[in-house]
Amino acid sequence: MNSVAGVDAEATRRRTFAVISHPDAGKSTLTEALALHARVIAEAGAVHGKAGRKGVVSDWMEIEQARGISITSAALQFEYHGNVINLLDTPGHADFSEDTYRVLAAVDCAVMLLDSAKGLEPQTLKLFDVCRHRGVPVITFINKWDRPGLEALALCDQLEERIGLRPTPLNWPVGIAGEFAGVLDRDDGHMVAFERAPGGARRSVERRLEPDEAEREFGDPWVTAVEESALLDEYDESSFLAGKTTPLLFGAAVANIGVRQLLDVLVRLAPSPAPRPDREGVPRPLDAPFSGLVFKVQAGMDRAHRDRVAFVRICSGRFERGSVVTHAATGRPFATKYAQAIFGRDRDTIDVAYPGDIVGLVNATALRPGDTLHDREAPVEFPGMPSFAPENFAVCRVADTSKAKQFRKGIEQLDREGVVQVLRSDLRGDAAPILAAVGPLQFEVTAHRMENEFGAPVRLERLAYSLARRTRPEDREALDAEHDVEVAERTDGAWLALFSDKWRLSSVQRRHPDLLLESLVAGD
Ligand code: GDP
Repeated sequence: MNSVAGVDAEATRRRTFAVISHPDAGKSTLTEALALHARVIAEAGAVHGKAGRKGVVSDWMEIEQARGISITSAALQFEYHGNVINLLDTPGHADFSEDTYRVLAAVDCAVMLLDSAKGLEPQTLKLFDVCRHRGVPVITFINKWDRPGLEALALCDQLEERIGLRPTPLNWPVGIAGEFAGVLDRDDGHMVAFERAPGGARRSVERRLEPDEAEREFGDPWVTAVEESALLDEYDESSFLAGKTTPLLFGAAVANIGVRQLLDVLVRLAPSPAPRPDREGVPRPLDAPFSGLVFKVQAGMDRAHRDRVAFVRICSGRFERGSVVTHAATGRPFATKYAQAIFGRDRDTIDVAYPGDIVGLVNATALRPGDTLHDREAPVEFPGMPSFAPENFAVCRVADTSKAKQFRKGIEQLDREGVVQVLRSDLRGDAAPILAAVGPLQFEVTAHRMENEFGAPVRLERLAYSLARRTRPEDREALDAEHDVEVAERTDGAWLALFSDKWRLSSVQRRHPDLLLESLVAGD
């Protein structure tokens, strides 16, 4: 067994992060480029270094098929210059749901990926809000600089003005978007000139130029970059860790430009796992016996519920497969014989893991997002998962009234698991609860599980609301009198007022300034 010092050292070399972005910004491209770059480094010198782009992709697809688990549910682990990088995926597109937010409870840092032509986009903003609320520091990567986009300074202003995040650029582009010659490295004033490698899939070729060489070769674009750079803020560790500033890089994931820099920045600046506060706010030391937080539970849509995989972020100690740990919520033992590093280096069962690592536990029927697992002798319980502001609403009814009991039981269970939030209103009665979710995919999951797991097929009717605000029982009457507004009570006792959109909300607010209509900030 490793010594205690071993756990601290292992934690220190880990970086656990997620990419937050809007669909199409280039998250898949960047993920692949990061993993590939790290692998190229790791395999440099290997005799048969077949480190092609195809390799990484096909490895993932094989695993995806063999396991029947979507890659979007996974964590990817790779080594880079002696560090262990854990990259957690944040499902987007149609998969955007509470799971996407929950992933952010398991990371120590986030990379905010922006499309240089679009800047901040809606999904990025939502994820950024969760990061801010949780105190997750954010590194910004401005992608697609190889093609026309916004001005670099305009993008920086956008961050500062729209979300109050002050950028401290680490590099600065030489040449406007679309005419990318390279970057000014603000650390030492050199220029890193890029030449795209043939085929695009390999590392960009980099040349390092002294300032006077850069000026001779690139002229005005270099001079402009130097002038602009002089106006920018410098990196500052404490404001970065406090979420007030963001180190920022320009690049082009598709051409592998800026990818090495991003990996280096992650290693240099992103925090390694820190002692996690328990429910009383007391930090659990990293070298304390094993503890972990379940941040996501994936029930295969077409499988029996026994095949549920719980993703656990290791918070302290050394995790060993085969050990029996305690499930804090029930006090019951949980055997970890089938621990998997779902997309880990060894791509199979995982034997040991350290703080910051992610393991997938199969047969995890009893585990729910927010649950703690701990060493049998050293109990701890971490704060559970918050409920997030729902944006999709549907009335749910049992399809066959003779299954009313199974229906009630199923809804209660899915509510407890955090699959959906369950609201009730006097108007609709107990037999027709309103289900509320971040992403509409949750309704499909609900319908599928209600039928297959609880034997109670349901009928779902989508409601035209897209926004919920916290209100008070005494405000119900006034709100119910408004058309297109509905008030319902959530299982946790919160009263929510539902609105079709923000314009409807503001018109009600204007007419009734004294009503409580508080935003449901993620994490509240
Ligand atoms: P995701 O939806 O965020 O995962 O985005 P993808 O990685 O699938 O990329 C969306 C599209 O943008 C694809 O066609 C990519 O080839 C393209 N793309 C990604 N990165 C870059 C880049 O740096 N430059 C350019 N020009 N295109 C890019």
